[in-house]
Amino acid sequence: MTERGFAIYGKGGSGKSTIAAALSSSFADLGLRVLHIGCDPKADSSRALVRHGRIRSVMGVALSTRLLDASSVLAKGIKGITCVEAGGPEPGVGCAGRGISRTFELLEELGVSLASYDVVVYDVLGDVVCGGFAVPMREGHARHVAITVSGTGMSLFAANNIMRAVRRFHRNGVRLAGLIGNYHTGEAFRDRVPRFAAATGSRVLVDVPFDPQVQKAEESRTTICDWRPRGATAKAVRLLASRLLELGDLPPPRPLEPDALERFLAPVRTRKRTAR
Ligand code: ADP
Ligand code: MG
Repeated sequence: MTERGFAIYGKGGSGKSTIAAALSSSFADLGLRVLHIGCDPKADSSRALVRHGRIRSVMGVALSTRLLDASSVLAKGIKGITCVEAGGPEPGVGCAGRGISRTFELLEELGVSLASYDVVVYDVLGDVVCGGFAVPMREGHARHVAITVSGTGMSLFAANNIMRAVRRFHRNGVRLAGLIGNYHTGEAFRDRVPRFAAATGSRVLVDVPFDPQVQKAEESRTTICDWRPRGATAKAVRLLASRLLELGDLPPPRPLEPDALERFLAPVRTRKRTAR
């Protein structure tokens, strides 16, 4: 298991790639050798790290040629960060989760040693935690999982599901590092995030504000930490990096049962009524 393997899971659109790429950049700033692995079939996780050209995904290369070597799937990013995109099958054909497990098999076959990096950052789609999407934790790649949430019901549904997977793999050494509150869709449900953390025996690692500069950084194919290094978002990501490097032992999360999650999400008035 990569002791410093950090998987960022979360609902689609919750800011995983934005935060994961900025996190890799912050780790590199600390002088660490970083491997960044995008495990989303969209294969867009390392766009901000590899600024030129298209990154060939492992599945894309594997489907198009039989002569696969490590250099065809490892891209050199800024600050010496090595980037890999798992990619996925043709849209509408095949199973995306399977693409992720195949990617890890291929990396091993190609002799890519995850252990030769100081940190490995995984950016993983978390709307579904089928066997394939659980590979980074199930097969002992990522030791720690952090989940991006905005506080909306859908983001917490996804987080709760991810926690169920983390809990299942706790005995294999997987730990929930905590939640990353990212409020780019608004602050309306922000107060739910610490309450959800408390209810599930987790914690909030860091709060990331809405930041219009994030889109500008994205358009310029750079991370927010490199675009506005003194801004609040960059500060939050650097704080996240330092917190992740200092994690002690962590208890298994306690995901909510479906009814308890519904009660948690119910507006206060409805909650009182159901309690009667
Ligand atoms: P995911 O990888 O979870 O699907 P992304 O990182 O691609 O999500 O983010 C989705 C969109 O939200 C992107 O357009 C991104 O620029 C924007 N975004 C994410 N975080 C923030 C933020 N803190 N402030 C402003 N926009 C953000
Ligand atoms: Mg993404």
